[in-house]
Amino acid sequence: MKKVSIIVPCFNEKDVINIFYDELLKHLPSTYEFILIFVDDGSKDNTLEIIQDLEKLDKRVKYISFSRNFGKESAMLAGLHAAKKLNSDAAIIIDVDFQDPPSLIPEMLKYYEEGYQHVYAKHKTRKGEPFLKTICAKAFYKIYAILTGDKNLAQGSRDFCLLERKVIDAFLAIKDNYRFTKGIFSWVGFEKKCIEFDYVSRAAGKTKWSFKKLFDYAVAGIRQFSHFYMLIPSIAIFIASVVTVFDIVKMIFTSYDKYVLRFDFFALLILIVLRFIMKLLYDIRDLNLKRPPYLTKATNIEDEYEVK
Ligand code: UDP
Ligand code: MG
Repeated sequence: MKKVSIIVPCFNEKDVINIFYDELLKHLPSTYEFILIFVDDGSKDNTLEIIQDLEKLDKRVKYISFSRNFGKESAMLAGLHAAKKLNSDAAIIIDVDFQDPPSLIPEMLKYYEEGYQHVYAKHKTRKGEPFLKTICAKAFYKIYAILTGDKNLAQGSRDFCLLERKVIDAFLAIKDNYRFTKGIFSWVGFEKKCIEFDYVSRAAGKTKWSFKKLFDYAVAGIRQFSHFYMLIPSIAIFIASVVTVFDIVKMIFTSYDKYVLRFDFFALLILIVLRFIMKLLYDIRDLNLKRPPYLTKATNIEDEYEVK
């Protein structure tokens, strides 16, 4: 029987875990062996206790609890590490708030059986989503495609997906510090299949993504797959060149005395460029620090399953 891990990132989700668990069980075909991996991403509420109570009832429940909030990207990474440790043939990543309907799991498994290695879910439309989020998301996908040259990242695609073991291994082989999960899945390739569904509202609780968190997520994604900092000095150099040509022409034809202003302007441009060079140096430093992407405080996944 094939072993499939269901990875569920949870951050302060006390209101939904139990109803999610009940709903999930309705959609797990008996022809597979399932492992339910809950990743508690440093919750401040009793998310971990609720998961531990579930474990008492259902031995298939595994958990990893982080020492603090590391973000959903790290939670998904930890879940995939665990899926590998537990020798899974495939893994499914799903949100706990019902915005990724568990009822789509049988369809994902059907495509998996047909040979697709990465089955991902995508919104048909963004109807029902908060307006500001739609605008920002659309802008992000456009900018991402331009700056990274990756046109395959589908508008509205979710983290909700099924991954065959080969894709999990490929994903884990990438050790980049800035991890934009959807971008990595696009980068690794493999046979993909898209499932479309309508937007669903959160079952209970609130979104865990502040505007700042979403913005950082977008920047980290673009940073992982492009050299976008280079755009800034390039623009600065372009502006400086245009102004210089303008000045030379003006000096030739008129008695031009606005040098002080021009000097300020150039000084400003140089400072901007310097700032971005420093940012880049910090990025290089960050890459060399090799800090772990998450730290585990508690888990019931035993060490006997060694990662190969
Ligand atoms: N999540 C997480 N860590 C975070 C933020 C979110 O593990 O720092 C989880 C959250 O519990 C949920 C999923 O990621 O299962 C999606 O988060 P949320 O529903 O808040 O995001 P939205 O759907 O509003 O984009
Ligand atoms: Mg949600």
